[in-house]
Amino acid sequence: MNNSCLSNKELCQSKVLNRCGAMKKILLLLALGVGLPALAEDLYPDWDYEGYAGPEHWGNLTMDFASCKNGKEQSPIDLTVAEDAKFSAPQLRYAAQPLQLTHMGHTLVEEVSAAPLHLSFGGQDYNLKQLHFHTPSEHQLNGKSFPMEVHFVHSDADGQLAIVGVFVQQGQTNATLQQLLQKVPLLKGETVTDQKAALDLNALLPKTKHFYHYMGSLTTPPCSEGVYWLVLTHPIDASAEQLKQLSQLMGKNARPLQQLNGRTLTLVR
Ligand SMILES: [Zn+2]
Repeated sequence: MNNSCLSNKELCQSKVLNRCGAMKKILLLLALGVGLPALAEDLYPDWDYEGYAGPEHWGNLTMDFASCKNGKEQSPIDLTVAEDAKFSAPQLRYAAQPLQLTHMGHTLVEEVSAAPLHLSFGGQDYNLKQLHFHTPSEHQLNGKSFPMEVHFVHSDADGQLAIVGVFVQQGQTNATLQQLLQKVPLLKGETVTDQKAALDLNALLPKTKHFYHYMGSLTTPPCSEGVYWLVLTHPIDASAEQLKQLSQLMGKNARPLQQLNGRTLTLVR
């Protein structure tokens, strides 16, 4: 995948993927694990979270990953002082949906197929494509890391990505995580489905819905920019046992913090 257009700030802040063509949109969604996980694995060289293929080397593994090294609006970041946003708070409407959980090796991905599941933000509607997990958290809150972060990946009709991040702290058992853990695939590449499972995705969101918003990137190769990030300021709870199980399944899968490079961070509430 040629990232030259994805690294163009002006394009990325509008409808980057639309202008860059349908093929790139498909490749990006595949890279995210949306659709056909096995094919996505074959498209790119192996990358990892440590060693010779670790985050500091991603940008050198292939030209397609150049944004990981050269990008100026990369994710994750430390979420600190923010200006109050001038637009209204994003609306999240997630209906219960069946289970379709894939062990991708680097993470666990719950694919979302049932409509209507979406996010309204800045006058635009986004459909939820998948959610996945990072242990520990990728973003930090005023320098504080959390044991886990959930990423809800949304796309609008033109392929513009909006990712909602939720910090997870140690506390009460989370019912939805328990549903996932009861069926969780243990082998890389394995998918478990349960059409009868009614996953309550709202239980993976905090009651107080205030968001940090900034322009960033995918946190995994190809590190494509132009992603609208919305990270909730309040964490949700998961039990120590749930956090331990998820961490053991995925390993450490958090990209290190990236430079802010003068980007504006806003608080939406
Ligand atoms: Zn993620």
